[in-house]
Amino acid sequence: VNGDLAGRVDRARRVLEQHGLDALLLSVGSDLPYLTGYRAMPLERLTMAVVTADGPVSLVVPELEAPRVARRDDLLTVMPWGETSDPIALVAAAAGDAAACALGDETWSVFLLALQEAMPGCRFVPAAPLMATLRMRKDAAEIDALRRAAEAADRVVARLRDHRFAGTTERALAGEIAAMTVAEGHDAATFTIVASGPNSASPHHEPGDRVIASGDAVVVDFGGTVDGYNSDTTRTFHVGRAGEEYLAVHATVRRAQEAALAAVRPGVAAGEVDRTARRIIEDAGHGEHFIHRTGHGIGLDVHEHPYLVADGPVPLEPGMTFSIEPGIYLPGRFGVRIEDIVVVGSDGAVALNTSTHEPIEVA
Ligand code: ZN
Ligand code: ZN
Ligand code: ZN
Repeated sequence: VNGDLAGRVDRARRVLEQHGLDALLLSVGSDLPYLTGYRAMPLERLTMAVVTADGPVSLVVPELEAPRVARRDDLLTVMPWGETSDPIALVAAAAGDAAACALGDETWSVFLLALQEAMPGCRFVPAAPLMATLRMRKDAAEIDALRRAAEAADRVVARLRDHRFAGTTERALAGEIAAMTVAEGHDAATFTIVASGPNSASPHHEPGDRVIASGDAVVVDFGGTVDGYNSDTTRTFHVGRAGEEYLAVHATVRRAQEAALAAVRPGVAAGEVDRTARRIIEDAGHGEHFIHRTGHGIGLDVHEHPYLVADGPVPLEPGMTFSIEPGIYLPGRFGVRIEDIVVVGSDGAVALNTSTHEPIEVA
């Protein structure tokens, strides 16, 4: 999805001006494709876009990467640099005599150190607050890509309901899920967490050689990209008949997840959505077992602004997209998490994932 790049650059300029900044410098990461349509490889060779108050955006790019840049002469001046030239000097020249520059978060420190030497009169500040204000509210094309990604992820969950879990390793199942993620319509699988039995109590468990067995809870959290936009969904499966304790924990997580979704509304602080989920889990006696925030923004990055953390002040606005993913983790025993991606509509959240929230028993 390329979207209205010129409109985005215009808005970036307005925000630069509001912050009293002269230039915006973006290297690897998602800010660059958001404004230019070009995603740089994270290489030791510098790629950097320079946005100043007017004129086209300068894109300093290694000569061998330049053919990958989609030409937009109205928008971009591509400045390829050869193996023996100095890209830092090109960036400094493009930034002119900027006294204050916003620098993309994912810029390698080696480049920042070189820029500080080449531009001794410039103050560098993080670009994140500026870029977050632009990227948090998605336009219709972005929401459409997120919806298609969520639908593809839901098709994977539907297939897993009939899948045999027992007897396979976490690693092998993760490989199968990654293949399904692509087969069901993603351009690529980005990550696959399969956490079984006691491992399910570790929210970001790395799938390993543990063989999944009857009686296990299995947290499956995975995602991929569609046109650059991410899916990210979690369902917790139970191998064989689930017992009372598991079902009670699952029911609490489900209530927390659904109440948090119902709390979403334009103007409500992101933190209130977190507190809504947290209160329900605390009231069930599991407050200390809910060890992460309730959710994170999603778009070109899997984790981006806004973050649904208890003290999160960001007021929700239509077009914001984020996960709602409360969990309960009982160390050494099992964990349960339910995660959907939602978009803020004019009078509440619309879930992009629609897989069942019922406990899912598998073979
Ligand atoms: Zn995560
Ligand atoms: Zn997830
Ligand atoms: Zn997530």
